[in-house]
Amino acid sequence: MTSSETTATIEGLSRPVPVQLFVGGTWQPAGGGATFEVRDPADASVLARVADATADDARAAMDAAAAAAPAWAATAPRERGEILRRTFEAMTGPRADDLALLMVRENGKTLTDARGELTYAAEFFRWFSEEAVRIDGDYRVAPAGGTRTVVVRQPVGISLAITPWNFPAAMLTRKLGPAFAAGCPVVVKPASETPLTALLLAELLAEAGLPDGVLSVLPTTSAKDVAGTAMADPRLRKVSFTGSTEVGRGLLKQAADQVLVSSMELGGNAPFIVCADADLDAAVEGAMVAKLRNGGEACTAANRFYVEDAVADEFARRLADRMGTLTLGRGDDEGVGLGPLVNEDTVGKVERIVKETVEAGARVVIGGERPEGPGYFYPPTVLVDVPAGSPATEEEIFGPVAPIVRFGSDEEVLALANGTEFGLVSYVFTGDLARGLRLAEALESGMVGLNRGVVSDPAAPFGGVKQSGIGREGGHEGLAEYLQTKYISFPL
Ligand code: ADP
Repeated sequence: MTSSETTATIEGLSRPVPVQLFVGGTWQPAGGGATFEVRDPADASVLARVADATADDARAAMDAAAAAAPAWAATAPRERGEILRRTFEAMTGPRADDLALLMVRENGKTLTDARGELTYAAEFFRWFSEEAVRIDGDYRVAPAGGTRTVVVRQPVGISLAITPWNFPAAMLTRKLGPAFAAGCPVVVKPASETPLTALLLAELLAEAGLPDGVLSVLPTTSAKDVAGTAMADPRLRKVSFTGSTEVGRGLLKQAADQVLVSSMELGGNAPFIVCADADLDAAVEGAMVAKLRNGGEACTAANRFYVEDAVADEFARRLADRMGTLTLGRGDDEGVGLGPLVNEDTVGKVERIVKETVEAGARVVIGGERPEGPGYFYPPTVLVDVPAGSPATEEEIFGPVAPIVRFGSDEEVLALANGTEFGLVSYVFTGDLARGLRLAEALESGMVGLNRGVVSDPAAPFGGVKQSGIGREGGHEGLAEYLQTKYISFPL
């Protein structure tokens, strides 16, 4: 399909949104002239037709990045930081409502979730605007005297960012923020479900003074071709990916060909542990956030609830009561607490997981039936008596389904929680801080929410262990991922 439109008018937004590729500082159609449709998950209607990038466009983006790279690396850190800061101001000021509503439209999330994501996303630009001017080095005296070593940190070089659809703004800003702070150009391949947010962010960055070529955005339905072309280009030095473990494994294999610096934020299967001594009200509130932020479509989503015997029935009852009050509907409709899932595949997977888990012996407390009608809706669902090893505890659900499993001892729950290839985040609720810290230290995950249902913070080093990923995003560590170390040795 082709289209000559340069922007799309989206209901409720103050300005039309760009729908073309952003390459070398200009908006342009895809090389082949093709476009693809972006749909609203609330009713499957077409929101916009977006340029469908090809391998040639990826080459053009690499050319633009290569042309921009030396001057960008040499740009004063303060100036790089100011561009991020100005974009932060636009995201949280005049364009905040547009961005939030755009995410509701293309992702389906509720307006509350979209506003929360926007704040989080913008904070990455503020944080890294402040980090840009703190890139340090050092001066060392050799143990034997004489020789001096000057250690400098330089931008790693042209980076490819591949982002998912669940947090269309934040998953991008947490790559662009540190990359730009460090002085790296970036070629972005956003998810084809949600390219509009990435294109609007590119517009804001350009308006904030980002030099031409430093950022390219290539929406495409040919992810493999476009990403593969960039990754085969000897000028690329880094790939940063957020998405499924399966795709991440493939990208790591490709990255090996050119020994690319690789950051991978992959799947999760977060355990949510409630001890009998926990404040149950706080645990239920934490569970609501950990389970239902973004409708459960988050790699940090609580995937398996382990509740100590003495409080298991009470916790299940209270969680079902709270989840049952949520109204399912279009993300920006008044009173809606849960929006649609992003597409048919995602809702189909949730449906299958629930069906198979019930067949394995679980009992449905609330939900469990996909409603009739258009859109990709799935209701809040609580399952109890979930047998070990069933799909709901083994697979990443990515939907509003809470499977509850009982446990009797800390040893038992640690074995259950750690019995997975994933290791992104875990949650623990207990009234005994020492017990909480012991569990937190023993849990095999990169992050632990202790008496909290959310851990994300631009100033913290987000990331996983085991097959949940490599590298960290946010914090000081996030910037280090885009810097390489060089030393200059000289006699004195
Ligand atoms: P999800 O289940 O969240 O869609 P994916 O891992 O499939 O997770 O997708 C995350 C991102 O990776 C998206 O931008 C998608 O287009 C991209 N992607 C998927 N397959 C490939 C591939 N073979 N090469 C490069 N990017 C890919």
